[in-house]
Amino acid sequence: MTKVYAMRFFPGLKCLCGGVSSYISRKVSPVCGRLWAGQWMRSCSRTSQIMKEGNQDSIMLKHLISKIKSTGPISVAEYMREVLTNPVTGYYQHRDVLGPQGDFITSPEISQIFGELLGVWCISEWMAAGKPKTFQLVELGPGRGTLASDALRVFSQLNSVLKESEISVHLVEVSPKLGEVQAQLLTEGEQHLRHDPNAAIYKTGTTKTGLPISWYKDLQDVPRGFSFYIAHEFFDVLPIHKFQRDDERDHIEICPEAGIIVQNLASRITEDGGAALIADYGHNGTKTDTFRGFRGHQQHDVLTTPGTADLTADVDFSYLRQMTKGKVTSLGPIPQHEFLKNMGIDVRLQVLLRNTSDPATSTGLIDAYDMIMNPEKMGNRFKFFALLPCDRLISSNDTRSKKHGPTAPPVAGFSELQL
Ligand code: SAH
Repeated sequence: MTKVYAMRFFPGLKCLCGGVSSYISRKVSPVCGRLWAGQWMRSCSRTSQIMKEGNQDSIMLKHLISKIKSTGPISVAEYMREVLTNPVTGYYQHRDVLGPQGDFITSPEISQIFGELLGVWCISEWMAAGKPKTFQLVELGPGRGTLASDALRVFSQLNSVLKESEISVHLVEVSPKLGEVQAQLLTEGEQHLRHDPNAAIYKTGTTKTGLPISWYKDLQDVPRGFSFYIAHEFFDVLPIHKFQRDDERDHIEICPEAGIIVQNLASRITEDGGAALIADYGHNGTKTDTFRGFRGHQQHDVLTTPGTADLTADVDFSYLRQMTKGKVTSLGPIPQHEFLKNMGIDVRLQVLLRNTSDPATSTGLIDAYDMIMNPEKMGNRFKFFALLPCDRLISSNDTRSKKHGPTAPPVAGFSELQL
């Protein structure tokens, strides 16, 4: 029988991430490769040098070492959670990590069209649902708030369609620093918001476009109601467990937190209506070792100077589908270039190009388009996956459906947009 080992360590982590830090894998047997805090410090000369210097990075390292010394080895998931979201020293907590000056760049930061088309997707699904009077836009891990800002601009521009609706915006964000950046972009600024750091809703106010907006640390605290849930490059930062078979030595990465969140989304969609759009890099249950770090736009060893680099793992979409099976209908994953093409990115690009006479702006628009669409760049690597109510694709000929006409409208992005 195949034995499956849960990977716990710490420093042994290096040996479990063959693709990331192969030099340890040559030295230590993968399954037995546990190092303890002292060994780790001796093996990481660069890291211990930083500790001696007593700079800020060492706070996380000291924290991890004392944790391992006092309670023993920690799992990969615990390491990932501590490094990324520890409330005091976590990577995301106190810095703006996105953009050219940060560690990585995302599609909404590259092209305004990305967030705009996701806004159009929400409106298209809102129409397919029979235009309910009230709806919530809920974003998980909104980064700098750029995607939400671009989507809300579309909502304003389509005011003639949405004028009777009551829309509210809900952001699920653990980072106080990124929460500030979001408030700066989406509202008149932090000083105009009501703050209650200890409450489940830790910030509330009004967007520049006049909609109520609130911040939460946890999806569970977002009010129930017909909602569109957007998660772009969110699921990939949730902590993964690594398992390894002792015969084949291949890796399996499982993210139970993603399972919990996606089940929560499925229940909400089933009971309250709406849809979820998850966009991320990922696979359909085929990949093995994808755990890696990013710092300064370069791949970074996951164990070196923890807390100074983003840690990420590809999203297993087959796992998300399995976790929601029977509750909701899922579509995808399909490549980003296909989704955006179906959403009409080419037409939108042409409109923007027609509206500018500045050659540098035109070049910028075309370069940004190429970056997010080119299959060799982000176009193929990123995928779109949607969760929809079970009856969303059922036509009225089917007795279970009450709301659609003779044929249910196709889901935009996964088919061509038909507004
Ligand atoms: N969606 C944005 C940012 C992606 S980075 C974009 O595409 O540009 C990941 C985001 O998720 C950050 O905003 C980070 O602070 C947030 N985040 C990370 N872990 C989280 C968690 N457990 N709960 C809520 N937000 C989290």
